[in-house]
Amino acid sequence: MKKTALLLSISFLSSFPLLSHAETTKTLPVIEQQKQVAGYYQYQAGNVQITALLDGTNFMSPTLFKNIPQQQVHEILKKYYADQEKGVQTSVNAFLVNTGKSLVLVDSGAASCFGAHLGSVLTNLKAAGYQPEQVDTILLTHLHPDHVCGISKDGNANFPNATVYASQDEANYWLDAKQTSKVPEAKRAGYLGTVEKIKAALAPYQAKQRFKTYKLGDEIQGFKVISTAGHTPGHFSYALKTDSETVVFIGDIVHSHTVQFDRPKTAIEYDINPQQAVQTRLKQFADFAKHGQTIAAPHLPFPGIGHVYSADGKSYQWMPIHFKD
Ligand SMILES: [Zn+2]
Repeated sequence: MKKTALLLSISFLSSFPLLSHAETTKTLPVIEQQKQVAGYYQYQAGNVQITALLDGTNFMSPTLFKNIPQQQVHEILKKYYADQEKGVQTSVNAFLVNTGKSLVLVDSGAASCFGAHLGSVLTNLKAAGYQPEQVDTILLTHLHPDHVCGISKDGNANFPNATVYASQDEANYWLDAKQTSKVPEAKRAGYLGTVEKIKAALAPYQAKQRFKTYKLGDEIQGFKVISTAGHTPGHFSYALKTDSETVVFIGDIVHSHTVQFDRPKTAIEYDINPQQAVQTRLKQFADFAKHGQTIAAPHLPFPGIGHVYSADGKSYQWMPIHFKD
């Protein structure tokens, strides 16, 4: 029935002469911006398949950048053609890594912890052809809600067969009750609000002894843990050697592909120890620029995969991978 209708319409259209240019512009409908399709991107790193999963897009206030005059922030954003209308556009990404032996999720997005504009990791994971039950390991770079909230929904594990890992230092900072009194009073309410979100996300895994911690020197499913403290006290990155390259899942050692690459000494309000966060970034960027590891980053423009380049060893450039079919 449908086929016949289609054939009829084709022969109907072809029986008309071509329209003149003036006539086409007159009848062309206004094309409205549609919702973008991209939500996952698959990158083959030798024998390992990495699927970048978009959680959504956030807009940061430029005033969140620290130890840099605001004027300079705006100049850098302008230089990189970064749209400033709604703030500084920031992606939230997570990464699904199929090693052939294991299906590992690195970070998990914000779920509903920050509003409806984020929380698409689970939908995009399914769109990429995977099922949440297949994920056996979740590696969290740190426990901020935009990395941990995506593991659960309303007290249930989104990934029922996965074991969740974070560093022992990170668990101590957020989950040890003795820590609360050490947090400066001005920041305590924010800290406790964050703790509540972290506890809710981890609870279904803890109930099944599926939340585990690691320390420096450990290796999980072939991922080497790298201490990158500063942004949070127990922040870690993960390095995975494939048969073609080393991929480093850096977490939040950087939040901006413009300001913090151009001026890597620029801290951000979310850093718990800004000086240490800057030192960590300088050390890691120098290493990445020298050795050329492939980088997967949760807050660089989606898919957040690329390389770090430096011409002078002082400022850096983000080199995103090319779209590949
Ligand atoms: Zn983050």
